[in-house]
Amino acid sequence: MKLPELGRLAFHFARTRWRLKFRNRSALEAWQARQIKRFLATQLPRTAFYSRFTGSTLAQLPVIDKSVMLANFAHMNDAGITLDEATSVALASEASRDFAPSLRGVTVGLSSGTQGPRGIFMASDQERSKWAGIMLARVLPPELLRHLLTGGPGGAPIRVAFFLRANSNLYTTLNSKRVDFRFYDLLHGLDVYLEQVQQHAPDILVAPARILGRLAELQLAGKIRLQPRRVIAVAEVLEPDDRQRIAQAFGGLVHQLYQCTEGFLGYTCEHGVMHLNEEFVHIEPEWLDQERKRFVPIVTDFTRTTQQVIRYRLNDILRVRDAPCTCGRVTMALEAIEGRCDDILWLPRSDNGDIGALYPDMLRHAVTTAPHALPDYRIEQHGLTLHIAVSGDAASAQQVLIHAITAVALRHGLQVPACAAMPFVDTDLHVKRRRIICRQRPSRQS
Ligand SMILES: [Zn+2]
Repeated sequence: MKLPELGRLAFHFARTRWRLKFRNRSALEAWQARQIKRFLATQLPRTAFYSRFTGSTLAQLPVIDKSVMLANFAHMNDAGITLDEATSVALASEASRDFAPSLRGVTVGLSSGTQGPRGIFMASDQERSKWAGIMLARVLPPELLRHLLTGGPGGAPIRVAFFLRANSNLYTTLNSKRVDFRFYDLLHGLDVYLEQVQQHAPDILVAPARILGRLAELQLAGKIRLQPRRVIAVAEVLEPDDRQRIAQAFGGLVHQLYQCTEGFLGYTCEHGVMHLNEEFVHIEPEWLDQERKRFVPIVTDFTRTTQQVIRYRLNDILRVRDAPCTCGRVTMALEAIEGRCDDILWLPRSDNGDIGALYPDMLRHAVTTAPHALPDYRIEQHGLTLHIAVSGDAASAQQVLIHAITAVALRHGLQVPACAAMPFVDTDLHVKRRRIICRQRPSRQS
């Protein structure tokens, strides 16, 4: 990394870690409103899609989704990069597993989504070092920060092991004399790396939740030995059984990063609670329930300008935490990232037959608290029938799952669905695991 980039990284690290603190929620909101006003004033005139909205407030701008973003791609970035150009560069680097190339100085990456068109992430070199500063400020515990600033024993760097389905220039920005960042490519599976990662002996272990769960299993069985000082789950829902296993194997809290092509949206604080990263992104909740517990986030990233993310509706379900976090941050605290909107199952209500929602966390809770522990499972909704599968395909385990589904439906005033067993097929390691999916929503009449 060149000196100016390093300087930028250090600046954003310090600003994120020590400067951006707010007395209360309204102080944060007032500050955010000023940032957004300035951001919109400079950014709207810069691209063809938004220039017609110049002078508008955030609330006056259209809420967009992935299809709008992809259809107007070239008109929503200030490098004039077309969707075809970005896609071909990103696909070529995925095919070659060489994630270094960029396009006219802009790093391009694809989301690891498995359904529908994939999202595209773009960042300039400046934005990369800024991102790296913010990211390090969010994930480094104090002892590793001391290590970073003063050098570890013998000047050893902080070792970061990063298991993911695709690397990016964005992530390798972290690599430096002080940070030994290694990417473990899940396309090759996990087993091929077990020896290597133990030799690497990472201080920070970052991986999709299920991969961490698998590493935890191996550690608990005495087959590997890792002693990370921080464990961070990314890219998929952190299931309760994985969380418990990871905490047991590696000790301490399991942290999460909520980072996607649309921005760096959330992280776990030192008290173990997920917070929205509202010092850098603005998130409007689109409430899913009357109690205002669950929402779909509409994201405005006022920190990044190469690619404009303005009132972008994500397909995720976030659940608000009831109590404020004791760490003192005024940013919104989350109980969980529950999954995607198409992980919600829909069943007729017992009283009037209207279709009601069964949220994935309700099912997870029912499974976790079932009288018999369940192995890995899948639930797929096809109309009024739930197709269920249990690892090992044991009929007794299927019965436990059916009982859990029945209990949770009754508890939420929904009709008990018909369940049909299907064979269990484990998800490939390089594909996002989704245990609960709605394939086809029932209509009221069906
Ligand atoms: Zn907190």
